[in-house]
Amino acid sequence: MKTVDLVVPCYNEEDVLTLFVSETTKVTDTIPNYNFRFILVDDGSRDKTFIIMRRLAQEYPNVKYISFSRNFGKEAAMYAGLKNSTADYTVVMDADLQHPPKMLIDMVKAMEDGYDCCAARRTTRKGESPVRSFFSRNFYKFSNKVTDITMPYGAVDYRMMSRQMVDAVLALAEVQRFSKGIFSWVGFDTKWLPYENVERAVGTTKWSFWGLFKYAIDGIASFTVAPLRILSGIGFFISAVAFIYIIITLIKTLVSGIDVPGYATNLCATLFLGGIIELSIGILGEYISRIYMESKKRPIYLTKSTNIDNHADDFDDIFTDSYSSLDDTSEAKENNEE
Ligand code: UDP
Ligand code: MG
Repeated sequence: MKTVDLVVPCYNEEDVLTLFVSETTKVTDTIPNYNFRFILVDDGSRDKTFIIMRRLAQEYPNVKYISFSRNFGKEAAMYAGLKNSTADYTVVMDADLQHPPKMLIDMVKAMEDGYDCCAARRTTRKGESPVRSFFSRNFYKFSNKVTDITMPYGAVDYRMMSRQMVDAVLALAEVQRFSKGIFSWVGFDTKWLPYENVERAVGTTKWSFWGLFKYAIDGIASFTVAPLRILSGIGFFISAVAFIYIIITLIKTLVSGIDVPGYATNLCATLFLGGIIELSIGILGEYISRIYMESKKRPIYLTKSTNIDNHADDFDDIFTDSYSSLDDTSEAKENNEE
């Protein structure tokens, strides 16, 4: 028997969680030779999600849960689930039934065919606002151009991965995680399964437009320094133009004296350069803030409650790491004293 862990981030999903587990179980029961286990991650929900999780855990022996001390975001929830998965194959999927459980059958088949990963790709965006689709399409186009990784348009966070790939994903221990990029960065053979967009079974989306915009910036900034290069390019170009303009102005002044008007030129140059400088500082700031946040090495999530034995906490890791480095220094000190 092979094992499959289903990692499910849940934030305020009280209305759909029971239905999700029963619908998914209907599908997994039809897949022979595989043992499925749910790892439900309660991302600090403010509704009854956690109570329902515990109830589900009593009802189904294969339901495990991790509950965070507060809302850490979907990325943290996926990371926690992956970190606690031990199965041969691990799946990440949403709780709202927008990721059709039926696809698990084809995913298992793809893995048996030797793929390291089998991921879902939406072919339609029915039920989504046209503005959101427009931005999303252009985000993929732009980010595929400026970054080294390729994310197919419509790729969603619904995929089955081999143990090897999960370990690789976990090895990228960055705090500000952008999973779509990480999944593609680690490589491995991925089979893409197209599917028609499904509207949320119950409840509403947790994403605001602003939230998605920040997510897009995160995606680009975590995978490329191209914006910094573009800035250097702009800087170089402006300096070259300025140099030519300075020479022309100097010659003109020496030959025909100073023309006093120049108000428009002055104003345009000041405003234009001011704008470019502001923009540059902003982009630099994006990268510096990322260095700052990463350098704090804060845990990605904190668990309040779980029914997983040998639960792997992100905090434990940091704790042990700092202990071992303390040990090293004390040993070094002792050696010095001798
Ligand atoms: N989610 C989460 N933490 C959050 C926001 C969302 O764990 O802070 C979960 C949510 O419960 C769902 C999945 O992430 O299972 C996708 O969220 P949602 O359906 O709101 O996003 P959409 O499908 O609209 O992209
Ligand atoms: Mg959804």
